[in-house]
Formats: sequence, structure tokens, C-alpha cells
Amino acid sequence: MHGHAEVAGAGFAGMTVATALAQRGWTVRVHEKDEQLRAFGAGIFLWENGLRVLKALGAYEAVMGGAHQGLVYETRHANRVIAQRAFSLERGTRMVTMTRQHLYEAMLAAAKRAGVEFRTGSEVVGATPDGVLTTHDGRAWKGDLVVGADGVKSRVRQAVQIRTERRPCADGIARVLAPRCTEELGPGTWDHVIDFWAPAEKPLRILYVPCNERDLYLAMMAPVDDLEASAIPVRPDVWVDAFPQLEAVIRRISSGGRYDAYETTAVSRWSVGRVAIVGDAAHAMTPTLGQGAGTAMMNALSLAVMVQQCSSIEEALLAWETNERPLTEHTQARSEQAARERAMASGTAWNDETLKTARHIPTGTEHLQWP
Ligand code: FAD
Repeated sequence: MHGHAEVAGAGFAGMTVATALAQRGWTVRVHEKDEQLRAFGAGIFLWENGLRVLKALGAYEAVMGGAHQGLVYETRHANRVIAQRAFSLERGTRMVTMTRQHLYEAMLAAAKRAGVEFRTGSEVVGATPDGVLTTHDGRAWKGDLVVGADGVKSRVRQAVQIRTERRPCADGIARVLAPRCTEELGPGTWDHVIDFWAPAEKPLRILYVPCNERDLYLAMMAPVDDLEASAIPVRPDVWVDAFPQLEAVIRRISSGGRYDAYETTAVSRWSVGRVAIVGDAAHAMTPTLGQGAGTAMMNALSLAVMVQQCSSIEEALLAWETNERPLTEHTQARSEQAARERAMASGTAWNDETLKTARHIPTGTEHLQWP
């Protein structure tokens, strides 16, 4: 089936569904409320599942060209190494890290090559089950398919009255970028992804994530009720006090940063009539397993595959949800549990259950010559 799609949100989910539909002969218009198409200054993890989706979109080579492959995930308590876990294709999944902007640019280029139209400064304020999006300027946009990929506070989800539960967690993460500074940091395995935990009395953590030769991403976990450690811009003295070994990079943090409390979103359904919701709009999750965007991209690609295969939109949306929802709920549940228990501190939290999503072969990528 071919037709026209209106998409709300040019994040990783919106960009994936738009590109995948356009590649299948659809016309696609994406409405983005921001004036510019870009990602904010932080890093991101992708695993085999997300990399496969990128390949299907035609963005894999460009992404890998400026990304970092973390061969080892190291866990340290008070700077003492307590565990190392190796990742590779042979072991079931690679762990690839990059800046969000790098990933975004590669995906945007693929979307434009596929012929996707973008409208920036176009805030979606409503949607109806018969396939009409409305924007802040009062205009109505009719599609055979409407996709709400407008993030955790989705207006599309609210407009079509999908029942939603948002479950907060005790912790959150401040995300910032800094230069790598490997010489100033002294001897060490600075190409590893390193999960630094402060001494036991302080529930603070810095996930040290190389993104490329120059850029380092720091994911700085602090409880929501710790007003000093969750402050933005980050307060270097608070963090140097807990992680003196990282002083060189903490004092060079280049981006203002952004603190987000962890949360899980559970919705009663993924579609109403011709309207589907995907990505954080439908299944936001705590970032513990680094799978929010990967899962969003898998489900967005699958949505395009299903509407192409089925003879009606309603049938396609039902088949899509039936197919994808179990793994998504598994991913949300494992992420939430790991966040609640601060399980990554153990150094043994990577196992077949927590890596199930990373190793999954997404719908629409079964045919790929891989890697
Ligand atoms: P979003 O990225 O929120 O995009 C929504 C888009 O819609 C935005 O561009 C927004 O401006 C736009 N928009 C919103 N409202 C409207 C409107 N009304 N009209 C028009 N446009 C609108 N995932 C990973 O896979 N790996 C990681 O390493 C990882 N780390 C994370 C770390 C943290 C601390 C957090 C909080 C999340 C992390 N995630 C990670 C999760 C990941 O960032 C999200 O799951 C992913 O970005 C969701 O993409 P999305 O496109 O659904 O939503």
C-alpha cells in the first residue's frame, strides 16, 4: 500500500519512519516544532539492533565513519576496576557510541535523499483518528497515515486520548560533552566505556563515553532530590569531589548540559484509527540499557514495513503493535528494574535478558548482508 503520511516530530523515531515510508514510495511530510533540525549536545549508545536499522535507512556507513566502537564496558567503584565486559559482533552485539548531532546529521541526510519534506517551526497541536494533524497556525494536514513521534509529552497521543501512565524513578542524568583529554587523565584505558561509581555513601555515577577522537560524553547520574548534583549547568566542584580522577574532563565540560529524570511511559494502545504513536511518545524508558532510541528506530522501521505489506492502515497498525509490543515491554521492564536497583553498579548487569533487544534482528532488516 502507498499513500501520504504526516509525521509529528523530527527526532530519531520520526526521522526513521519518514525515511522508511519514503523509501517505499510514500510521500511524507514531517512537522518539527523547533526552528532548526538538530540534536542537543550529548552522546548516545547504539547496539546491533539500531545499527541494522541505520543500514536499512542508508545511514549506516555515514554514522560509523564518525563513531566510536567501545570494545569494553568497564565498571569502577571509587576508581577501582571491579568488572570488564567485552562487546563485539561475535559476542552478539557491538556497542557503538557517538555524539547525537553526528547520528542526527547522518539520519537527516538519508531522509532528504529519500525525498522527505520537513516543516520546521511547525508545532502540532492536535490530531484526529481519521488522519488529520493540526498545527499551531490553524492549518489542517490530511494523511492516509498520521504518526505521533513527538516525544514523551506527545500532543498527538493526548489528542487521540490514548490512556497513559508515566512512572518516574528516583534518579536522573545530566548529559554533557567534554574534550577527551586522554593525556591529562593519565594512564588508563581511555577507549573503554567506563562506568564510574562514587564511594557507597553517595549514589552518584559518571558514565564516561568516548564518541570519537575528540569528543567525550559524560552521563552524570544523580538522584532527583540531590539539588546540587542535578543542577544545570553542572557544578564542577560537586562532581570533582566525588570523582577526582576525572577532574581534567569535568573542568572542561563544553556544553551547558541537560538533566532529565528517568521515567517509563506505559500506554494502553499504540494507535487509534489512522493515527500511530511511536518512540518516546509510545514507550519512553529509563536510559539504563541505552535502548530508548534503538527501540524507537526499530518500531518506526517496522511501522513502515507493516503499512506497506497490509491492505488497510487499521490492519497494519494492529499487526505492527502485536508484533513489536512484547519486546518493547521487555526492554522497558528490564531498563526500569535496572534503574530502580541501580543494578549497573554490580558490574554483572549485562546478560542475555538485558541484551536481548540489542541482539534482536529488527523487522525490515532480515534481508541485510550483515554487517
Ligand atoms: P524525541 O527525541 O523526544 O523527539 C521528538 C521530536 O518531536 C523533537 O524533535 C521535538 O522537538 C519534536 N516535537 C515535540 N513536540 C512536538 C509538537 N507538538 N509538534 C512538532 N514537533 C514536536 N537511547 C538510546 O538508544 N541510547 C542511549 O544511549 C540513550 N541515552 C539516553 C540518556 C538519557 C539521559 C535519556 C533521558 C534518554 C536516553 N536515550 C537513549 C533515549 C533516547 O534519547 C530516546 O528514546 C529517543 O531520543 C526518542 O526519540 P523520539 O524521536 O521518540 O523522541
